[in-house]
Amino acid sequence: MSYPALIIDHEKLKFNMKTIVDWCEQSNIWVAGIIKGHYAMPSVVQDYVDSGAKMLGSSRLSQLRKVKEMNLGVPLLMIRIPMMSELKELVELAEYSLQSEVATLDKLNKVAEAAGKRHNVILMADMGDLREGFFNEDELIAAALHVENELDWLHLAGIGTNLGCYGSVMPTEKNMNQLAKYAEDIESVIGRQLEIVSGGATSSLMPVFDGVMPSKINMLRIGAVTMTGPMEDIRVDYGREEIDALYGDCFTLKMEVIEVKDKPTHPIGELGVNAFGEKPVYVDRGVRKRALLAGGRADYGDFGDIIPDLEGAEIIGASGDHTILDIEECETEIKVGDIITFRLKYSAILRLSLSKDVMKYKKNN
Ligand SMILES: *Cc1c(COP(=O)(O)O)cnc(C)c1O
Repeated sequence: MSYPALIIDHEKLKFNMKTIVDWCEQSNIWVAGIIKGHYAMPSVVQDYVDSGAKMLGSSRLSQLRKVKEMNLGVPLLMIRIPMMSELKELVELAEYSLQSEVATLDKLNKVAEAAGKRHNVILMADMGDLREGFFNEDELIAAALHVENELDWLHLAGIGTNLGCYGSVMPTEKNMNQLAKYAEDIESVIGRQLEIVSGGATSSLMPVFDGVMPSKINMLRIGAVTMTGPMEDIRVDYGREEIDALYGDCFTLKMEVIEVKDKPTHPIGELGVNAFGEKPVYVDRGVRKRALLAGGRADYGDFGDIIPDLEGAEIIGASGDHTILDIEECETEIKVGDIITFRLKYSAILRLSLSKDVMKYKKNN
């Protein structure tokens, strides 16, 4: 094995996705597996499909291209509002997309016509989180009517919303009911049912747990919690015991110890800035035992996003290629050449998935 290594436990990933799919099914909701968090790693994408994800979505067409080549037989969804400049590729790669601009819909209709390929759209409603989506119901309904009646090469598959990502707004009975009402209002003006009413992402599991999800909501787009499990996410502190049923160690990082020494805890000399131009505060705790690891912020991003799986160990700092671990309190003796395992938050998994220097291995159970 070469290090740093990202270890992927497919059995646990499948368990997590299957559990989420089952929770949702009990509320008549189906799941689109969102694959951006691990950069569409093919083996993990396969786990999602094997565990019941009925659609696969990403914010990036490059990832959808990779998935399309896997021929998994599930439709693909573009979840970032597409750029005008990528519509041709969008029609080629994805069957579905989230949309919030009439100008883009008009152009997409032309592009779909030129390609001779009908494209399905889900119009986004902004329920107050203030990222993407139509903010006024009137505008949403007008756009829906426009797609339905005037854009022959687009199919209005449904509506959706996204919560939490910018405005930290929690999905609740109230805003989910509002989305359900938007769907019903659109259905009454177009005179038919919408196939998809998409209630959001991982955070929208909370109204599912509380049993307050309106029956109109029939699809969620789930990524983060499949990968991280109950671990506190940097964006969503789930704080829900239901989530504790999931595994929090589907992805782990292994790094090798390259130096073990006793050193002072406060740097010696005149202090300026560190390798990243920051001015950390150093607490003088006297001389303590530390382990230096070969792997750093260039690999995983922020050291607050990795957690040592070693009783008594604490990360005290990191630069681009190094991580410094205080091991004074560790019962286990750490030697040069030892391997230390870390649990990972969402953004660390994302960074590590992308890094070419980080080897990826399947966990043997
Ligand atoms: C990232 C994203 C998701 C998935 O969110 P998770 O919190 O990872 O489950 C769903 N929808 C949209 C529009 C997104 O950008």
